[in-house]
Amino acid sequence: MKNYIDGKWVESSTGSTLTKLNPSNGKVLYKFPAASKEDASRAIDSAEDALENWKGIGSRERSAILLKAADLISSERKELEDILISENGKIPVQASEEVDGVIDQIRYYAGFERKITGDVVEGEGRLRKIFQYKEPYGVVLALTPWNFPAAMVARKLAPALLTGNTVVLKPSSDTPGSAEWIVRKFVRAGVPRGVLNFITGKGSEIGDFLTSHSKVALITMTGSTSTGQRIMEKASANMAKLVLELGGKAPFMVWKDADLKSAARALIWAKFWNAGQSCIASERLYIHEDVYEKFMKIFLEAVRKMKVGDPMKSDIGPLINADALSTVEKFVKTGMNSGAKLVYGGKRPKLTGDLRNGFFFEPTVMENVKQKSLLFQDEIFGPIIGAKPVSDFNEMIREANDSKYGLASYLYTRDYETFLKAADGIRFGELYVNMTGPEASQGYHTGFRMTGQAGEGSRYGIEEYVKLRNVYVDYSGEVKLKSFRTSL
Ligand code: NAP
Repeated sequence: MKNYIDGKWVESSTGSTLTKLNPSNGKVLYKFPAASKEDASRAIDSAEDALENWKGIGSRERSAILLKAADLISSERKELEDILISENGKIPVQASEEVDGVIDQIRYYAGFERKITGDVVEGEGRLRKIFQYKEPYGVVLALTPWNFPAAMVARKLAPALLTGNTVVLKPSSDTPGSAEWIVRKFVRAGVPRGVLNFITGKGSEIGDFLTSHSKVALITMTGSTSTGQRIMEKASANMAKLVLELGGKAPFMVWKDADLKSAARALIWAKFWNAGQSCIASERLYIHEDVYEKFMKIFLEAVRKMKVGDPMKSDIGPLINADALSTVEKFVKTGMNSGAKLVYGGKRPKLTGDLRNGFFFEPTVMENVKQKSLLFQDEIFGPIIGAKPVSDFNEMIREANDSKYGLASYLYTRDYETFLKAADGIRFGELYVNMTGPEASQGYHTGFRMTGQAGEGSRYGIEEYVKLRNVYVDYSGEVKLKSFRTSL
């Protein structure tokens, strides 16, 4: 693997590398460059130098390059799916869904060519106008997570580039392989030198340097809330614009009139998709007490059928690394210490051969979870779900909203009043009613509270990448100065 700086594929200037392990067996998968601050600085300078030309070529040409990249990804997609399976541990069907998402997002954003328009509005007084221009911010720093390592790269590169910004991309150190593969497609599609730079290396080592750099105008980051907070602090040095898509803790609400089978099936998706490592994963289950027992029975029957192990033959693959595995183990322990009851799973599965060294964890269900316990308050990011019966609607909404995170939420009901009241009362960026995610390219993916700020997707998401500025003009030829006693 290499970095891509100023139009060249290069090693780190210090020659240092980092090692990536395969989460399914703990073996070394590949090595990748540990970029130095000097590399980061060259990448940012190169992006700045490329700005004027890229801005000037117009969105029609930029869109054509994005579409070509999407076509290349589409025709060679199997390679990307294989990388997602090996470096992230995704099961093939989910790797394929992610690649669908990559292609869809690039094509979706490419469709905004010639559609980002400003305004001309009347000024104050005769023969005056205000021209409102929408322009690229400049150099965009894109920081991506490991859980959807390809889709998150596409969701940042496509809108940033279409709108005429230039980019420095630093992917997660857990999954740089898929990001490099995508960057290579953009390069082949004709992205000019300097417009897209790619560096790999630990956020803890080069992150502060990147986020506090005076030439970075916008930082778009998807990741954990703690990293988001650090970025916000560092970005304040230059007042860089921030798009921060951070943690989640989705409530899954089942009302007494719900179709329980559909709800249980949806919960299987909302909980175990990507082994529970998803920002929109449900981590809290609120079920109306009248249907609690029945729902849990159906859900547990489905959970028992879930197979965990080799991604090529299972429903649930490994967690991303050894740290993630010990985190979920701790959640089970702390949950039990706080009075929750383990009703299914709760440990590493017994596997054979190389898989014994993989980072696998059983699908896990806990009951009697207290609202204020860590199981219901902190992001777990693994295949654990806690459940709690609720007796009335206000209690359900109040407890669902009682979270520092505010990204996704789910509701199963067939009653329109319940749905409309929930839509009014819920304080989350997304409410899925009688359906699962994931979010669509044309939806605005955003969150309340510690989930971050701004958002991605839709015309609102693309407009995060343009700055609105004003030109005031008077074409009357008259002098209209006021505010002084003396007439000039
Ligand atoms: P993370 O540890 O916060 O890392 C995210 C990115 O930030 C990585 O590229 C990381 O690089 C980099 N980084 C780390 N420290 C940095 C620093 N000081 N300065 C600049 N960059 C730094 O998150 P993750 O573990 O990869 O991803 C999981 C999290 O993402 C979960 O909390 C999940 O909820 C959230 N997520 C949110 C959404 C959403 O749309 N809201 C979507 C997906 C995931 P290194 O890998 O080198 O440390």
